[in-house]
Amino acid sequence: MNLILFGPPGVGKGTQGERLASEQGIQHMAMGDLLRAAVRDGTDAGLKAKIFMDGGKLVPDDVVVAMIEEKISADKDAGFLLDGFPRNVAQAEALDAMLAKHGVVVDHVVFMDAPEDNLIERLCGRLICSACGFGFHRQYSPPQKSGYCDRCNGELYQREDDREDVIAHRLEVYREQTEPLLGYYQGRSGFSKIDASGEMDLVYTGLKQAVEN
Ligand code: AMP
Repeated sequence: MNLILFGPPGVGKGTQGERLASEQGIQHMAMGDLLRAAVRDGTDAGLKAKIFMDGGKLVPDDVVVAMIEEKISADKDAGFLLDGFPRNVAQAEALDAMLAKHGVVVDHVVFMDAPEDNLIERLCGRLICSACGFGFHRQYSPPQKSGYCDRCNGELYQREDDREDVIAHRLEVYREQTEPLLGYYQGRSGFSKIDASGEMDLVYTGLKQAVEN
């Protein structure tokens, strides 16, 4: 199965996407994670991306498109869940062209949505494990031991771009550049929209129904 998950920052694409991809036995390709790894490793792409990411802006299309093409073409038959890519119409067009070139078909495109105050609350309280990347929330899913990951005991941190001022900008970028993807994908077979404002298991049930239909 190949699928695309998109929606605003903080809607839960990462958490839900990771769960679905692991259950389906497909690769979870989270663009933000790939970029953060490139920044950590100091690659050319990472060096280019960092300044945009810190400011809550989109990294230039040529950088992200090349990274995704490398991942997809490395194992075309493995199945993928794209999370955070595409993030604008130009990227969606580049993705379509790339998939056609490699003979790969997207089975589902799922748009996850939630009200803005909900997104801000989730992003402001988010904590990430520095070792395994697992996400927690100060209020809604706190770690058992404060500051440390339940899974691997790694240290938890708050992302630079989860500061309130950067969050506001990310949401603005989302509305201007990513939301138009709705017009691009709506009407395609395999498109669905789910309400992601509820509790985690409930959202996951909605997501599963969307990809099983
Ligand atoms: P995320 O982890 O999905 O919230 O992404 C974190 C940051 O990575 C974003 O705010 C952007 O700066 C950058 N980023 C992630 N995905 C993309 C993309 N498809 N295009 C451009 N920039 C991206």
